[in-house]
Amino acid sequence: MKYYSTNKKADNATLQEAVVKGLASDRGLFMPEVIKQLPESFFDKMKDLSFQEIAYTVADAFFGEDVDAASLKEIVYDTLSFDVPLVHVNDNIYSLELFHGPTLAFKDVGARFMSRLLGYFIKKEGQKEVNVLVATSGDTGSAVANGFLGVNGIHVYVLYPKGKVSPIQECQFTTLGKNITALEVDGVFDDCQALVKSAFMDKELNEHMKLTSANSINVARFLPQAFYYFYAVAQLHKLGIKKDIVICVPSGNFGNITAGLFGKRMGMPVKRFIAANNKNDIFYQYLKTGVYSPRPSVQTIANAMDVGDPSNFARVLALYGNSHEAITSEIAGCTYTDDQIRESLKKCYQQHHYLLDPHGAVGYRALSEYLQPNETGVFLETAHPAKFKETVESIIGENVEIPAKLQAFMKGEKKSIAMTKDFDSFKSFLLKQ
Ligand SMILES: *Cc1c(COP(=O)(O)O)cnc(C)c1O
Repeated sequence: MKYYSTNKKADNATLQEAVVKGLASDRGLFMPEVIKQLPESFFDKMKDLSFQEIAYTVADAFFGEDVDAASLKEIVYDTLSFDVPLVHVNDNIYSLELFHGPTLAFKDVGARFMSRLLGYFIKKEGQKEVNVLVATSGDTGSAVANGFLGVNGIHVYVLYPKGKVSPIQECQFTTLGKNITALEVDGVFDDCQALVKSAFMDKELNEHMKLTSANSINVARFLPQAFYYFYAVAQLHKLGIKKDIVICVPSGNFGNITAGLFGKRMGMPVKRFIAANNKNDIFYQYLKTGVYSPRPSVQTIANAMDVGDPSNFARVLALYGNSHEAITSEIAGCTYTDDQIRESLKKCYQQHHYLLDPHGAVGYRALSEYLQPNETGVFLETAHPAKFKETVESIIGENVEIPAKLQAFMKGEKKSIAMTKDFDSFKSFLLKQ
């Protein structure tokens, strides 16, 4: 399968090229040329298939032409070594718990898949050493660092905004050592993302070392996220719910929801999507006005969604042929303040005994407000509440226990390198590596 650039000024790439490059040479995002429709028979029997079986069918549609079946199956099964349960919260609202992976956030799925696919190309095709640059507002860094830890032939540089990620998140990528280097940038997330993007465009740097991204701009990170949408629908089918399914996605860089939109394009029976924003509501404003105007991100308690210029917006546009009308016919939006997020988190815990994290709380609130009585809503619970321990405890006034998986990280020693947001200093650091 070939991948084209959303800017349409670069040559089409193979899967290997798209994964290794991350971003196209015209700074566009790679899109698969074809999105295959899955057969009706698959959707009919989906409820009887395992998560891994469903995921393999979806993976085969995207990657089957470029990765041999046995290897692809191994990559998928190895990536999804944990469950993604659908939990009933109240009325017609369900939570898809995406936090049962190693770093307790949904990004584990994409990060693990990408590291294994890149590892496959390095081994099989003799691809030379690759350096992964990843900008993070919290969860991406931990998922990518852990997904790639110890993978031969890959070095990971995690760039994160100083003082703007939670202590638990920080220790998940600053304590690993080995092939993982953490860079603490004096700036906000968008500065980190800008440094990474500039690095990819820098000729001298790219001659010096092979660079790639593991942000959701990378097709190998973002496409596998489609797997669990199908599995969510399968679990609803098992409960006898087949119609009027609405999926609500707490969104930042829009990689997660875009994977769901790809799923719908493949025939997944979902009626509509809701993109839930915090105060960084650039997409919400776009839906309302038809004008996309990025602006600097502001800090919120759902900090993994503090994105002022969502990269994957370009993919949403490409998927809908730039039509605002087509986009608004399938995607609704909403935006909440920190106070509203706190209120929903607290109410859900008190009334339904279900503890949300601040990101999931944005999704839950959107469904509570906008779901029609005939619809069934699934929100993606994107992280375990303990990842935002201080915030969640201050809202519910109770202690939140840290799962053993997370505790293990907190015992390590923090090691990071201080960096300004100035590209020249970042570049000279990389040239010395
Ligand atoms: C990354 C992240 C999001 C936002 O996902 P996007 O793909 O960037 O839209 C939401 N919640 C959590 C917990 C995250 O880590």
